[in-house]
Amino acid sequence: YAGRKSEIQASLYEPEMNERYLAQAEIDKELRLALDRDEFSIHFQPQVDYSTSEVVGVEALLRWDSYKLGRISPAQFIPVLERSPLMNKVGAWVLEEACRTNRQWQDEGHPAISMSVNMSARQFQQADLIENVKGALERTGLDASCLTVEVTESVAMENIEKTEEKMKALKALGVNIAIDDFGTGYSSLKYLKVFPIDILKIDREFIKDVAASSNDGEIVTAIIALARSLKIRVVAEGVEDIEQLYFLNQQQCAVVQGYLYAKPMLSSELKQWLGRRKDVIQAVASRGA
Ligand code: C2E
Ligand code: MG
Ligand code: MG
Ligand code: MG
Repeated sequence: YAGRKSEIQASLYEPEMNERYLAQAEIDKELRLALDRDEFSIHFQPQVDYSTSEVVGVEALLRWDSYKLGRISPAQFIPVLERSPLMNKVGAWVLEEACRTNRQWQDEGHPAISMSVNMSARQFQQADLIENVKGALERTGLDASCLTVEVTESVAMENIEKTEEKMKALKALGVNIAIDDFGTGYSSLKYLKVFPIDILKIDREFIKDVAASSNDGEIVTAIIALARSLKIRVVAEGVEDIEQLYFLNQQQCAVVQGYLYAKPMLSSELKQWLGRRKDVIQAVASRGA
């Protein structure tokens, strides 16, 4: 009876729906003020090459701490931004800030690594994308080879000719290109050859059960083999445990990004992490040995 009663209460009350609806309008309003109020920050998550114990790159992940609403996850606010021209302003801020931070690390003596920046559909499609990227590199003094632009498969497939043109222009600048969330969208394998892609990022959805589910395991194995034959590097996203790491390593996918090694963190924390990365990476390796 108790269970039944709470079920009825839950369906009458539906607090979640109500909260979400309210939050949406609030989010809209507060987002418009967030840049000026300096509420955005970037967290950085390392990408580790397991075979060499080196950090090969870092992904820049946007964070929003609204003084009014608290921390809002990107899954909640990025889609809202995407619907407004504000995305381009925020995206430009992330791009420049990420480039500046990467250049700073190098100036402080850290070895050069690539900074991955996510690009939304709107941002990738803007007419002056190439100018903006070029400008950000020039203003921050970051070498183009130390920047990787991530676009999801679905964004890349939206307008194939434009995508090819933009990717080629980015490549001409010297920037690397990654396809994000690979395997989750609609993609024609043919375009893996047409687009000048450097990296495929296998979506976390496939990695989650990679060691336990033979289906996911086979899909991941196939993606890795495909990428290898096309000479595209692979990064596995969302690696959380040692079983996943060993599966990937067996398939010769060496570069992984995930909580197993590190959560996204502030620049100052990342610098500390880089300082002791060998220990972290070795500790992970010995856990499975
Ligand atoms: P994404 O680009 O695929 O980024 C990877 C997401 O997986 C990040 O979520 C990261 O924190 C999370 N992650 C990494 N390792 C693990 C793990 O081991 N376990 C789990 N459970 N999660 C892991 P986050 O930071 O919440 O970002 C979500 C998405 O929001 C990103 O997915 C990206 O599509 C978008 N996003 C984030 N920052 C930006 C940005 O500056 N611009 C644009 N356009 N989109 C962004
Ligand atoms: Mg990404
Ligand atoms: Mg992804
Ligand atoms: Mg994603």
